[in-house]
Amino acid sequence: MALPIVDTFGRKHTYLRISLTDKCNLRCTYCMPQEDMQFMPTKWLMQADEIAYLAGLFVEMGVEKIRLTGGEPLVRKDAGDIISRLGKLAPSLTLTTNAVYIDQFLPQLKEAGVTSLNVSLDTLKEERFQAITKRDHFTKTLNHIRLLLDEGFVVKVNMVVMRGTNDDEVNDFVRMTLAEPNLHVRFIEFMPFKGNQWDLSKIVSYADLIANVSQEFEFQPVAGEVHDTARRFRVNGGAGTFGIIGTVTHPFCEGCNRIRLTADGKLKNCLFDTSEVDLLTPLRKGDDIRPLIYTHFQKKHFAHGGHASFTERQAKADYEQNREMIAIGG
Ligand code: SAM
Ligand code: SF4
Repeated sequence: MALPIVDTFGRKHTYLRISLTDKCNLRCTYCMPQEDMQFMPTKWLMQADEIAYLAGLFVEMGVEKIRLTGGEPLVRKDAGDIISRLGKLAPSLTLTTNAVYIDQFLPQLKEAGVTSLNVSLDTLKEERFQAITKRDHFTKTLNHIRLLLDEGFVVKVNMVVMRGTNDDEVNDFVRMTLAEPNLHVRFIEFMPFKGNQWDLSKIVSYADLIANVSQEFEFQPVAGEVHDTARRFRVNGGAGTFGIIGTVTHPFCEGCNRIRLTADGKLKNCLFDTSEVDLLTPLRKGDDIRPLIYTHFQKKHFAHGGHASFTERQAKADYEQNREMIAIGG
């Protein structure tokens, strides 16, 4: 067993999020620029063997949970093979997906020990879905969430709440969880990334969300863990839960245990940290990449990749230096 990855704040990093691709079958407005998005050439992407090798290395360094993400992880032709391989070596494997292709992967997911998935859905209205994602997959997405629940998976629905876009649907999403013990909804504060037209005024804050849900429901907090990104609640008498990922106004950096690997093999120690370390090039040369990993985590900032706040004057310019969300891996 190699040494664990511990940063200067004593945080042990045990959760690896691997982006399989920056490509996607949707075009969500909050995730990617609407024009001029330059996707990575295929040869830049980590190959299945490289992903399996890196995942194994991180597991040796103490990683207990791996999440596959993207872009849309399931647009990769070898996604099933990668899921199967990582299922064998990761103590816990999961995915974040838009669920459009999920029906084609159920046997591999079960065999790999995946029991819970995060699925993005930002609206329960077909026209809005089209406006947000620029694609016509609304019915399929809803049907596939149902399919996952019927097949016994836990589904965590991720909704990015944006003022004036879908904030009037928050309580409809809460209502969906009432009778479904395996359905959990997480409201995500809109975060700034390159080219996503972020503006502080579009954020529906943690406090706003609590106030909104309180108008219709009575609810209690659900105990969580120090690493959790979502503060969770259960409506009195409800089966599932709702949670709030308040990255901007209610950060959870204190318990951060997350490591990110982009589809082109760059290590990021925070979603918002623009400094990256290339693991893929030295790996392809046959170098030992372990020292690069340990050193990079010694430079990890306490919060938000070292940005003073999301309201600082330079905030927008700072986040424009980062990648697009779709190219980081959410
Ligand atoms: N394609 C998959 C999906 O949509 O679930 C995985 C990748 S996506 C980048 C991962 C998560 O990031 C999704 O839940 C998405 O809603 C979230 N996300 C993307 N852009 C965001 C933003 N600007 N602010 C908050 N969450 C965002
Ligand atoms: Fe694709 Fe997911 Fe980004 Fe939407 S949020 S564009 S589904 S990667």
